[in-house]
Amino acid sequence: MNEDQLRDSVVAAARSIFTRGLTHGSTGNISVRFGERIIITPTGSSLGTVESEELAVIDADGRHVDGNRPSKEAFLHAAVLRARPQAGAVVHTHSTHAAAVSCLAGLDPSDALPPLTAYFAMRVGSLPLLPYHAPGDRSLEELAETTARKSQAMLLANHGPVTSGHSLAAAIDAIEELEETAKLFLLLQGRNVRTLTPEEAAKLAGAK
Ligand SMILES: [Zn+2]
Repeated sequence: MNEDQLRDSVVAAARSIFTRGLTHGSTGNISVRFGERIIITPTGSSLGTVESEELAVIDADGRHVDGNRPSKEAFLHAAVLRARPQAGAVVHTHSTHAAAVSCLAGLDPSDALPPLTAYFAMRVGSLPLLPYHAPGDRSLEELAETTARKSQAMLLANHGPVTSGHSLAAAIDAIEELEETAKLFLLLQGRNVRTLTPEEAAKLAGAK
C-alpha cells in the first residue's frame, strides 16, 4: 500500500469501529506502520469524523514528525510496534465491555479473560493486564513494550484494550473479538462456566 492508501484504510477502520459503537467521543486511536514511520489518528478528534489529511505522523520513538498533533496515547502504539516488528497496525479503544472488565478486581494479571471461545483463542490469545496509569503517563511505555513482545493484545486496567496485528484488518478483528468475549464474560458472571481446556486453547493459538 502507498501512503494515501494506508491513510484511507485508517480512516475507513476508524469510521467502521465508531459506527459500531466500539469508540465514543474522541476516544480510541488507530496506527499503521509506514516504513520507519507510524501514521496515527490525531488527538482530540472523533474516529467518526477524522479525515485522511488530519492524521498525525510519528517516529518509532513516538515523536511527532508530521501532520496534526498525535493522540496522547501515541507512545503506546510506538511501544507496541517497536516490540513487534511483525505487526503493521495497533488499535486501542475504551470499548464498553472490555473497559468494564478492566475495572474488575481480582483478574489474573497474566491473562485477564478466560478462553471462552475458539475465536478468542485464535484472534487474541492471552490478554495480560497492565496496572492502572493515568492517561498519557509515559511510565506505561516500557511496560507496554515488554508485554507486547510476548502478546499481541493487552488490557490496561480501568481503561481499555490494545491489540496489534500483521495488518490493520487483523488488529481490528482482534479488538472486536476481545470486546465480544468481554461481553460474554460479563454475561456469564455468577454462572457455572466451561472454558476451553488449556489443550483446546493451545491447539488454536496462532491458527486463523
Ligand atoms: Zn485510552
